[in-house]
Amino acid sequence: MNIYGIKREDLEQYFIDMNEKKFKALQVFEWLYLHNVDSFYKMTNIKKELQDKLNRDFSLDMIAIVKKQEDKLVKKYLFKLFDNNYVEAVLMQHDYGLSVCISSQVGCNMGCAFCESGRLKKVRDLGAYEMVMQIMLIERNIKKRISSVVIMGIGEPLDNYDNVLDFIKIINDPKGLAIGARHITLSTCGLIPKIKDLMEESLQINLAISLHAANSELRDKLMPVNKAYKLPSLIDTISEYIAKTHRRVTIEYVMLDSVNDKEEDANNLADLLKGMNVYVNLIPYNETNHFEFKRSSKEKIMKFYDILKKKGINVTIRKEFGSNIDAACGQLRSKEVKA
Ligand code: SAH
Repeated sequence: MNIYGIKREDLEQYFIDMNEKKFKALQVFEWLYLHNVDSFYKMTNIKKELQDKLNRDFSLDMIAIVKKQEDKLVKKYLFKLFDNNYVEAVLMQHDYGLSVCISSQVGCNMGCAFCESGRLKKVRDLGAYEMVMQIMLIERNIKKRISSVVIMGIGEPLDNYDNVLDFIKIINDPKGLAIGARHITLSTCGLIPKIKDLMEESLQINLAISLHAANSELRDKLMPVNKAYKLPSLIDTISEYIAKTHRRVTIEYVMLDSVNDKEEDANNLADLLKGMNVYVNLIPYNETNHFEFKRSSKEKIMKFYDILKKKGINVTIRKEFGSNIDAACGQLRSKEVKA
C-alpha cells in the first residue's frame, strides 16, 4: 500500500490494531504532509520498531513529473505512473489563488463525442495516492501552496468513487494537504446512482455537472451516458442533491458551434433550470484535430449568455487557460499515447 493513499482515520485504526496510540497517525501525517519527508526513518518521534513496521507495510514511492509545458497563467504537467501509464494535471493561476485540475482515471469510458480524454478508453482507475501526488508534486515544483482543486482532468471521478472519496478526505484533512472542502470541485457527466451516494456523504465540496445539452435527444448524441441516465432524471437528481446538501450546483455547458448554441437551446436550458439553485458555466470548446466540432463564436456565446441572464439564470463564461499549450482536456496525454 502506498502511504499517500491512506486516510488519517485508517492509519489511526492501523495503530490501534497493534495497541499503539492513535495520535501516531497524526504524527505520521505531519511528517508526510507538513515536513515532506521521504522515509519513515526520518520520522524522529516514531520509535525504531514502529518505523520498521511502517516501512514493511507501506511504500513512500512517488510518481514522477516527466513533462511540463507552461504559459503565463497556466502550467501543464504530465506524470508517469509506476506502471508506465501517463496522466496529466493543469495548474492555473486565478486572481483568488492557485488551482489544480487533476485526473482521476487513466483514460475514460464515458465516450463523450467531443472529448479528447474519452477517445482513449479507460486503462484503469487511479489510486487515491496517485491523485494526492499530482497535487503534492505540483506544490513542490512551484514551492507554493495550492488553494483549490478541481477533479476535471482525465476520467470520470464517479466511475472511481471510492478512491476519489479517499482522495478528497486526504487532501481535505487539516493535517493532510488542508484544502478546504469548499475549494474542491468534482465534475461528473451524470452517473445518477453515484450522485445519490455522494449526497449522503455530507461533504461540503462543490459538484459540477457536465450537461452540454438541454434536451435528451441531443444529449444522447453528445454523451452516451445519457442513454443510461436520461436528462429529466438527471435534473431530478440534481434537485434532490441541492435539497439534501443545501449546496449550489454548477452546470457545465460546452459551447459547440451550430450544435447546442442556438437561441432555442438557450431558452430550453433556461426553462430546464428555472428555479433551481444552480449556476451555469459556459465553456468555450477547445478544438482538437480528432473531432469536427468547432467552438461557438464569441457573439453566439454572448447571445446565449444574455438569454440565460434575462431569464434569471446565474451564468458565467469560463475564462480560458492554456489552449495553446494543449492544456485542455487530455490533449497532452493523448500526444504521448498513440491511439
Ligand atoms: N468526466 C467528468 C470530468 C472530466 S471532463 C465530466 O464529464 O464532467 C471536464 C469537463 O470538460 C467536462 O465538462 C467535459 O465535458 C469538458 N470538455 C471535454 N472536452 C472538452 C473540450 N475539448 N473543450 C472544452 N471542454 C471540454
